[in-house]
Amino acid sequence: MLKYNHNYHSHTQFCDGHAPMEAMAAAAREAGMEVWGFSPHSPLPIPSPCNMAREDVEPYLREAERLRRLHAPDMRILTGMEIDRLDSRWGPHIDYFADLPLDYRIGSVHFVATQSGELIDCDGSAPRFARNLHDHFRDDLRYVIDSYFNSVKEMIDRGGFDIVGHIDKIAGNACAVKEGVEMEDWFMSHVQETLGMAMEGGLTVEINIKAEGRIFPAPHWWGSLRGYDSTTLTTPSGLILPGVVISSDTHWPDRLKTDLARSIASSFPDFNK
Ligand SMILES: [Zn+2]
Ligand SMILES: [Zn+2]
Repeated sequence: MLKYNHNYHSHTQFCDGHAPMEAMAAAAREAGMEVWGFSPHSPLPIPSPCNMAREDVEPYLREAERLRRLHAPDMRILTGMEIDRLDSRWGPHIDYFADLPLDYRIGSVHFVATQSGELIDCDGSAPRFARNLHDHFRDDLRYVIDSYFNSVKEMIDRGGFDIVGHIDKIAGNACAVKEGVEMEDWFMSHVQETLGMAMEGGLTVEINIKAEGRIFPAPHWWGSLRGYDSTTLTTPSGLILPGVVISSDTHWPDRLKTDLARSIASSFPDFNK
């Protein structure tokens, strides 16, 4: 069942987070969280300031283990990873990630390949996205959006992860360039198809509340998730996850957004059962 005080998505010193894991865990416990999952941005084969280095995976897992002991039994600490899907050669499906001893895996698309195959981070600020759209994608917004969703769909097809990260997040930057584009039929078809694939594939769908004033997937999609929140899924590590989770995706210990998470959770009918 959907729980406002179970969070599986957070970032710390091991990637682009702004606090050590220890401070994040302390803030989470203080806020009354029952489950706290860490999910550093995965190592990548291309340079990226937001992602963790391969040699940091070991220290990350060691620190998580220390904190797991420190906070048990009041709060359950879990080790996850937000794995970037770049293309058919790099994503949650590759052996490198399958072999890591993680409790769960989030699969996310942040990078989109240009018409000439160059990978561009489309997850940054709206002004940066607009610049990249012009400089790298020949101002072809439709191309970027199609490529983003095709990458998410291919990622779901290939598997190797448990939670689909911010399924329609490209909508945020795309709407800043072209207002209302997320309500156009072709855009809605992409989201509908992607959500359908995720649920048929037995994946957990996150409601990501990190952005100010935006939630992914957007609230008009939550109707298709109602009922799915009472499904349970078991990860390869044996962890049981509900069909829907709320992710603060926080990079700061003072941005856990538990009030917002609570109000979203209470809008799902199973919440009070
Ligand atoms: Zn992400
Ligand atoms: Zn994240």
